Amino acid sequence: MLRAIFGGTFDPIHRGHLTAAADLIKELGYVTIHLMPNAVPPHRSQPQANGQHRLAMIECAIEQHPHMRAEPFELNQQGPSYTAKTLRAMQKLYPDDTLAFVMGMDSLLSFDQWFEWQSILATAHLIVLPRPGYSLAEANSTINQLLSERRVTCTTELNRYAHGRIYIANTTLTDVSSTAVRDALASGSDTEISAAVMAYIQRHQLYSSPL
Ligand code: ATP
Repeated sequence: MLRAIFGGTFDPIHRGHLTAAADLIKELGYVTIHLMPNAVPPHRSQPQANGQHRLAMIECAIEQHPHMRAEPFELNQQGPSYTAKTLRAMQKLYPDDTLAFVMGMDSLLSFDQWFEWQSILATAHLIVLPRPGYSLAEANSTINQLLSERRVTCTTELNRYAHGRIYIANTTLTDVSSTAVRDALASGSDTEISAAVMAYIQRHQLYSSPL
């Protein structure tokens, strides 16, 4: 079975994450998607909401989605949340499954800066979500080389190989970011989050949300 690990900060989870995950389930067929908030993201500024809140917001958002799970794994680890280490641990937890790590196009463009990125490809496939404002045309020579060696254009190829293939998904383009959601919440404007997540944010007074 294909098991997709969708890692990120999810500060908070928004319509872009959810639409992409729901589209991926349709596109890939039989897959379980683990939405996994990082504890200490190594490549960016630290989250505003703590890990337990970010996990709980994912739980609220995916209530109606039986093929999605909120994954606490990285919140239970010490130190920076390195994807390479996480995926090696996941491989031990799910030895019979093929793993794929899901990331947005912005993340692919800097993938060669990630800690032990070669190990990620030795453990899992990469599934890349298109994202407004980011395009393969901006890829550097290392990423282009990786794509020329490893890109597959058909989802069945992800089942033929154990790991190391890169698939650019056809998921809906959604122009939403957590940064924009946090800014909107702080100023009391409308946001691209589900009603259940909004209720959680208000209940816990996160992101300086209006009561
Ligand atoms: P922030 O604005 O705080 O940087 P973000 O909106 O990019 O957050 P993250 O939780 O950091 O959200 O993203 C987790 C993963 O989801 C990343 O790989 C990111 O590229 C991807 N992603 C986030 N939003 C979208 C979107 N609208 N479309 C496609 N991919 C997305």
